[in-house]
Amino acid sequence: MKIIQSKCSYCLKCKAVCLFEAVTVSDGRVIIDESVCFQCGVCKDTCPMEAIFNEQDEQDAGMQTSSGQECKGICLYLESRDDKLSLSALQVIGAARRLQAQSDLKIYAILIGEHTHELASEFARYGVDELWFVEQQGIGYYAEDLRIQWIAELLGIMKPEIVLAGGLRHARSIMAGVAARLHTGLCADCIDVHLDSVQGTLVATRTAFGGSVMASIHMPQHRPQMATLKEGAFEPAEQIEGFCGQLKNWSGHISTSQSFYEVLEVRKIERWLSDFTDSDVIVAVGRGIGKAENLPIILSLAEALGAKVGATRAVVEAGWLDVSHQIGQSGKVVKPRVYIACGISGALQHIVGMEKSATVIAINTDRNAPIFQYASYGFVGELEKIIPRITEYVKGKSLTLKS
Ligand SMILES: Cc1cc2nc3c(=O)[nH]c(=O)nc-3n(C[C@H](O)[C@H](O)[C@H](O)COP(=O)(O)OP(=O)(O)OC[C@H]3O[C@@H](n4cnc5c(N)ncnc54)[C@H](O)[C@@H]3O)c2cc1C
Ligand code: SF4
Ligand code: SF4
Repeated sequence: MKIIQSKCSYCLKCKAVCLFEAVTVSDGRVIIDESVCFQCGVCKDTCPMEAIFNEQDEQDAGMQTSSGQECKGICLYLESRDDKLSLSALQVIGAARRLQAQSDLKIYAILIGEHTHELASEFARYGVDELWFVEQQGIGYYAEDLRIQWIAELLGIMKPEIVLAGGLRHARSIMAGVAARLHTGLCADCIDVHLDSVQGTLVATRTAFGGSVMASIHMPQHRPQMATLKEGAFEPAEQIEGFCGQLKNWSGHISTSQSFYEVLEVRKIERWLSDFTDSDVIVAVGRGIGKAENLPIILSLAEALGAKVGATRAVVEAGWLDVSHQIGQSGKVVKPRVYIACGISGALQHIVGMEKSATVIAINTDRNAPIFQYASYGFVGELEKIIPRITEYVKGKSLTLKS
């Protein structure tokens, strides 16, 4: 924030409203100490002389057109893992291509990492018109602050109408930072995106009020319209034969030494059969398991079936399983061919994560549990008795899923 001294009437209203004591008086002049100022904008709104302005606002003015006239295209932030195409990134491209099919919007993408060149040319075959990659040695996975700066700078150059990113923890956190920098909104965890048939603006769908309603969110005022997409909710894009988008190597002017973060140690969390990407069968466990010590019952069945292990939020909150297992509104969306729900009541927030499963088998002591409304087959009884019998039956049989 800066004060235009020639406009200032020395009323000191700004000093009175600043909670951070960033406004000081020196030599008969009112000054804002930028090292203390949080850019909250309260003083700017209070000043009767319109003497206070935000430099960042001025820089971002081009992005904030309410008509959206200056903004063009869809820009994607693509995440890579271990220098490989991530499924989440392909799902983001898939969502963008669906929007493109409704319009003539160009697809731009941003990729940031240590070895992005090769990866960029691979991504560009999936229908991305222009792929801007930043190849930066020494940029750790955790340098979110640098990524935020680069992405915000690049978006300032591209001025897209829409920005989409994946819904993994890392991208969600980065996009929140980018949205704050650009003074625009962010609709997180969307399960659908489409263009409004009249205005051509983005309509993002997500659950609201604790999962009890689906909300269609419009962002009419600010640009870009930003959304993160729930993992698993969108079909991944397929490669377009013969297509290769344009690659742009961009370096910006930020050094890795400017990051707030210093990584002292990296510890890997033991992930226990929770990578759902290629799973045809999921055995999911709910609070009905009673205690963590009973989990081996679920694991034995999962191993016998070659299945992955899912969980409800109740199980994750109890600390019985890591959050990577969570399925539902605040977890992952899965669509296996067989979903075995063990001791799960069937709360709506869980259902939104598994309702696309082809066949649901539920085991529950309560015959009135809502999960049975979604089940193709149900067992009413204690999972401790039922599951070992299924596991015994399955063991030694080579089961194949019929299509
Ligand atoms: C904003 C928000 C987001 C949320 N996000 C998610 C999410 O992403 N995923 C999610 O799962 N939940 C989520 N929840 C929580 C959700 O509302 C439910 O609380 C949760 O899904 C319940 O988990 P559960 O079915 O394991 O437990 P419960 O509802 O307690 O059900 C346990 C079931 O086990 C049965 N049972 C008990 N003993 C046995 C036994 N011996 N054998 C067989 N069955 C038995 C009971 O009859 C009962 O039906 C969210 C909630 C909110 C407010
Ligand atoms: S923008 Fe907020 S923190 Fe900064 S000087 Fe004004 S009131 Fe204080
Ligand atoms: S509120 Fe405006 S006019 Fe009053 S002292 Fe602050 S900058 Fe000057």
